[in-house]
Amino acid sequence: MCENGKKQSELELYLHIPFCVKKCAYCDFLSVPADKAVQLCYVEALKGEIYQQKTLGLNRRVTSIFVGGGTPSILDGGQMAQLLEAVHDSFHVETDAEITVECNPGTLTADKLSCYRQQGVNRLSIGLQSADNEELRLLGRIHTYEEFLQSYMLAREMGFENINVDLMSALPGQTKESWQQTLREVLSLKPEHISAYSLIIEEGTPFYHRFGPGAGEERLLPDEDTERQMYYDTKDILKAEGYERYEISNYARQGFACRHNLGYWERREYLGLGLGASSLTEGVRYRNHKKLSAYLAGDYGHEDKHRLTRQEELEETMFLGLRKTEGVLLTEELLKVYKGVFERLEQQELLIRENGRVRLTELGIDVSNYALAEFLQED
Ligand code: SF4
Repeated sequence: MCENGKKQSELELYLHIPFCVKKCAYCDFLSVPADKAVQLCYVEALKGEIYQQKTLGLNRRVTSIFVGGGTPSILDGGQMAQLLEAVHDSFHVETDAEITVECNPGTLTADKLSCYRQQGVNRLSIGLQSADNEELRLLGRIHTYEEFLQSYMLAREMGFENINVDLMSALPGQTKESWQQTLREVLSLKPEHISAYSLIIEEGTPFYHRFGPGAGEERLLPDEDTERQMYYDTKDILKAEGYERYEISNYARQGFACRHNLGYWERREYLGLGLGASSLTEGVRYRNHKKLSAYLAGDYGHEDKHRLTRQEELEETMFLGLRKTEGVLLTEELLKVYKGVFERLEQQELLIRENGRVRLTELGIDVSNYALAEFLQED
């Protein structure tokens, strides 16, 4: 309870670290290489933004913190400690909060991991993408598979018992066999969680100029059938090893689904702090601006502020919630608003209603882009 006797409401917290050692060739995230002096100024600016939340923050129960990027592990251990201390000073962080730091191989050290542990970090998300060194080189990653292994083993030695590994399929030159090999290599390490996404060739990236439409090297991308097969293999191989698919692209051993990301799909309130970070609070979506120089000078202005209409909230409930394999709890309102869509997708065997919930079928997950888009079209 807070001082005025009101029950404290829950909040998920996201901190953005927009720096990487080097830009990967496929990446369109908000991240840039930056020297140590800029990183230092950024940490000071981010601490300023965190402390600015203190009056409101102490009345919110933070159930998860996700430090994402970029490459948060590029920061010194002491800098990460300062950021997390600022969070603890400014918010009521639950004692069992899930606290994740995104890391990349080549940037992790025993000192940094020790600082994370001291600050209560209890989950690491390590970007690997592929266990094939040639694929890693093509992606423009800064590390080899062997360097990932060193980081992973170090994290285990330092006591981290909840580790996610990020993987990516449908890479240029990738074969069904090399993807299966990546899955098997990673499974032999028994991480608690695996995120497996298909590569999307984003406009404006070096990959788009090489592999985008009409760019000349598209033939190196796996064809549609191969990509589909990789997708089915992911599902089958991970399932056989005891990983439950709880979201379209996310798999976990029992009890290790990512609480923070579940919050996004369940539309729980979250506050994003740091350059370009997005938030959803009190029915309003907005994001911080993306101008690094202004942010470093203490400008924490917001952009794209939008109060959601009831219709938009319902649409989000469906197209975010149906990403989870358990689907969405049905309410009278959803049944009324989406009656026609439910019936249409059920006839196509893409959706099922049972036990008071609605979820996509296996077939529905296979064509989720189509099925989820149906919920955006209802007036
Ligand atoms: S490490 Fe991640 S955020 Fe950084 S450039 Fe590569 S893909 Fe982008």
